[in-house]
Amino acid sequence: MTIKRILKFGGTSVGSVEAIQIIAAILQERKSHGQSVAIVVSALSGVTNELIAISRATASGDINYRQQLAQLEERHIEVVRKLLAATHQSALLGSLKLLFNDLEDVLQGVSLLWELSKRSLDFVMAFGERFSALIITEYLKSQNIAAEYLDAREFIFCDESFGSARVDFKVSNAKINERFAKLSGTPVVTGFIASTPRSETITLGRGGSDFTASILGAALMVEEIEIWTDVDGVLTADPHKVKKAFAIPSMSYEEAMELSHFGAKVIYPPTMQPALETNIPIRIRNTFNRACEGTLIGKFETSHPYPATGISSISSIALLRIQGSGMVGVTGVAMRVFKALASNTLNVILITQASSEHTICIAVEPEQAERACELIDQEFLLEIETGRVEKTIIERDLSIVSIVGENMRHTPGVSGKAFGALGRNGINIAAIAQGSSELNISVVIERRNEKKALNALHDGLFLSRTKTVNLFLVGTGLIGGTLLNQIELHRKQLKEERLVDLQLMGLARSKRMLISPDPLPFGNWNQALASAGCDTNLEKFVSDVIESNLENSVFIDCTADNALASSYARILDASIPIVSPNKKVQSGGLDYYLKLREISKKRNTPWLYETSVGAALPVIGTLRDLLKTGDVLISVEAVLSGTLSFLFNSVSAQRSFSSVVREAKELGLTEPDPRDDLSGVDMARKILILARESGSRLSLEDVEIESLLPKAAMEATSIDDFFVELKKYDAVFEKRRLEVEANNQKLRYLASFRDGKARLSLEAVSSEHPFFGLSGRDNMISFTTERYRDRPLVVRGPGAGAEVTAAGVFADIMRLVDQI
Ligand code: ADP
Ligand code: ASP
Ligand code: MG
Repeated sequence: MTIKRILKFGGTSVGSVEAIQIIAAILQERKSHGQSVAIVVSALSGVTNELIAISRATASGDINYRQQLAQLEERHIEVVRKLLAATHQSALLGSLKLLFNDLEDVLQGVSLLWELSKRSLDFVMAFGERFSALIITEYLKSQNIAAEYLDAREFIFCDESFGSARVDFKVSNAKINERFAKLSGTPVVTGFIASTPRSETITLGRGGSDFTASILGAALMVEEIEIWTDVDGVLTADPHKVKKAFAIPSMSYEEAMELSHFGAKVIYPPTMQPALETNIPIRIRNTFNRACEGTLIGKFETSHPYPATGISSISSIALLRIQGSGMVGVTGVAMRVFKALASNTLNVILITQASSEHTICIAVEPEQAERACELIDQEFLLEIETGRVEKTIIERDLSIVSIVGENMRHTPGVSGKAFGALGRNGINIAAIAQGSSELNISVVIERRNEKKALNALHDGLFLSRTKTVNLFLVGTGLIGGTLLNQIELHRKQLKEERLVDLQLMGLARSKRMLISPDPLPFGNWNQALASAGCDTNLEKFVSDVIESNLENSVFIDCTADNALASSYARILDASIPIVSPNKKVQSGGLDYYLKLREISKKRNTPWLYETSVGAALPVIGTLRDLLKTGDVLISVEAVLSGTLSFLFNSVSAQRSFSSVVREAKELGLTEPDPRDDLSGVDMARKILILARESGSRLSLEDVEIESLLPKAAMEATSIDDFFVELKKYDAVFEKRRLEVEANNQKLRYLASFRDGKARLSLEAVSSEHPFFGLSGRDNMISFTTERYRDRPLVVRGPGAGAEVTAAGVFADIMRLVDQI
């Protein structure tokens, strides 16, 4: 019988009764096509980990191993009971019992000696595959598949390096061919395990069943090696860390090797070597989705359109930094580092050397960092003593993220794109390495940023056409609520036409808040808050937003008060842009305002509040554009309160000032206490914001306010008293109005900023003045600049209202998206 294919089934594919039944179905299918195959099986899922845990606990004095073994045995017996008819169980259960007895004997030895050598651990770990292969063989037989149990220790041989075995291909290939020449049925081979020349049991390293399949495939020169697992192939990233990862249909051996070397667990790195040497393709397939073709790994050019093939990561590494002037221009430094580590079998994951040759960084597994450090310092003892090399520094809590792909060789700018995505998300890079083959760019980053980095890179490289933006909103009042509705209405269109995917990941209102791992609905958010939210604590909300560390996050402050002000620094410092219609912070204390500007600049993180002056009218943006392009501001004049506009436009001979104020209050056009509008403070804040935009260092106290009202009205203790006092003022006001009217002028309450001074005053304007024709509740802002000296640049329109303000906040968000 010539074996055409090797099918390897991983832990999850043999982890349950249902999964094992699928294996039988796959084999029946192959049989019906006349295709002879061999299968390689892993231990039932989790069993290897369990065996390691039991061994370690036993070695450190835990005497409960018998109980833990009994549980493990029970799990296997349970599977047998479900798979086989009672009449067929006894022989198999007997064989399993014998194996478990052997295992117990070994553990008893470990328990007595309080010692677990690498040799014993390999021996213990090997039981998992022996159990599973036995069970599957018997089950297949019961399904009329002539299966034959093969223990790989009969024909795969390694050297004696327990824990990091090297396969002797010459001996193994011969033995494999010898054994496979005498088959009596479909071979069911134990993955992961092998023998030393002295016939001791050794393992091929964690995930080594893949390697077993490839060793067999190459020795038998099969057509294809199939690795059956629980995902649709090699995905663009680890699906546990990047939800949008998807399968790539084909890739080269080198790509698969790099991806797996840097953490993609789907295939064990050494697996590629035997296949590559014999040019046998490897296909990764999903046991639970057989219709899917999976990923084909072979010797071919990449056929997908993405600039990279995948991103992988190693979550936990330590970085060793070796530096010193004595290293510059001296040959052999890197070699000495390597030699010192290799001769002690310490594995180097990554190495980078600055072009100045002043520093070498190497990444190692965290558990090996201390030892590696000692070895290097020993190697450079002389240089350290003479001060030419410094003692090695260890940096911990780091991760490596690697971008892998053949296409990077031909596509310029991939690294630029990658670093851009990391930078925008405030992720610092501790070290960078690019393989000379240009197949891989690896960056070392802080561990807490691993997931964020993977997602930002994944979006940038694979979904570069669709940008995901994660929104966090505080304040669901009139503006916040309207904003959510507007986004809900346009979300689909934005995604389809502008390829922007807005996701609501957190929401807080006065009573309840929620940060969700999955996007919240923009429409029915109330229900989500009620069912999954908790009591509001804004400090915690901000901390959680920062901690959730999502890529392309945006913080939206739609509160009307100062509740979040003190958190702004923290938010910007975490590289999260802020968008807000709230004007309190940018018109608040000067020192804090300047500090926030500084952080925003340093972190390159925008702080946008276009809607805090004139709602959605392009006021701040216009001023910023003028200044950015070299124009110089001479003055600003503005009517920045729709309410005050309405008042002055409505007063006439028939309608007194106090009656218009009353009417406005009844129409809901003023604050509950109309003095909040009439005091001018709100408008003072707005002119202050514009002044500060142009570089002025003014504070709110510096804004001169000409009071609109007599002192008695301002100080009245109730609103009714206020109106009584206001009425007394009508005559004064009417007199002024008549004077102004006689001069063909109109009264306007204007904010101005000129010669470094900001003020609010009631002015009479003539017909040639831009504000003369202002009607209704419009706002109007006029910029006089060097460029617009003779005729000022005027912005005019509705400057209030939930719809327009929310639309302005939305526009600020989209402005941020354009920068991503
Ligand atoms: P098996 O038990 O079948 O050998 P493994 O758990 O060893 O399965 O490997 C498959 C798992 O690898 C997947 O379930 C997935 O969570 C993980 N994985 C990590 N990175 C990738 C990737 N880039 N593509 C596919 N799977 C990946
Ligand atoms: N059972 C072994 C492990 O968990 C080998 C494998 O699954 O490939 O590492
Ligand atoms: Mg595996």
